[in-house]
Amino acid sequence: MSALTKPVIAGNWKMHKGPTEAREFFRTFLAQVEIPQDRTVAFFPPAISLGAAVAALSDRTDVLLGVQNIHWETHGAFTGEISAPMAADAGARLVLCGHSERRHVFGETDEAVGRKAAAAFAAGLVAMICVGETLEEREAGRLEEVVLRQLDAAIAGLDDADVARAAIAYEPVWAIGTGRNATPDDAAAAHAVLRDRLRERVGDGAADIPILYGGSVKPENAASLLAASDVDGLLVGGASLDPQGFGRIVNAG
Ligand code: PEP
Repeated sequence: MSALTKPVIAGNWKMHKGPTEAREFFRTFLAQVEIPQDRTVAFFPPAISLGAAVAALSDRTDVLLGVQNIHWETHGAFTGEISAPMAADAGARLVLCGHSERRHVFGETDEAVGRKAAAAFAAGLVAMICVGETLEEREAGRLEEVVLRQLDAAIAGLDDADVARAAIAYEPVWAIGTGRNATPDDAAAAHAVLRDRLRERVGDGAADIPILYGGSVKPENAASLLAASDVDGLLVGGASLDPQGFGRIVNAG
């Protein structure tokens, strides 16, 4: 069963904010933003800023932290990588697996995403599995085929209990960082496809698995996206860098 109360509002800082800026962000965010008790709020800072984020949130249990990527091995000669047990030890509870930028900029394969998701759960982390089609794939009518292929590969090596604990993020590639978000209807349609596949795998428990929408979420569109059917949260990139703006998204709807 999911450990995350829905809706889940998560900020992916990408390669922004070192430790000093992370501390400044949380000073403002915690002072100015009321965090609703009936939502999960999470941040994915760069791994190098995780310690600063943990320290800034030391007396807060209402904000979760995660890392943006892990290696599937626990340790070894993998210069530049971090492992799931290391991330957990440093205070992460979540990890993004298969973010579009990992897939498209760094060539991460479906198989690698599956290994990372399995490594995450083995270390006690919750994998937030990201899927999404390119514009070309969408226009060719291949949305369903692509997101299901990505989802299937990501959960293939997980047992059913871990699938039920996972979170999914539907992030159409054409919407990430472009200012062009999916419409609530687009999001609902894709989320329904993903939910059906999760139901085939884990039965009724699929209803509890948070499926987040991501791609050019802003304070202005957050409420309508959150209201869409099967949308259980938002994964926010650029708009999570500003504490007040992200605060409005956290409280949207
Ligand atoms: C993301 O990084 O996951 C994302 C959705 O980015 P943006 O909100 O900037 O489109």
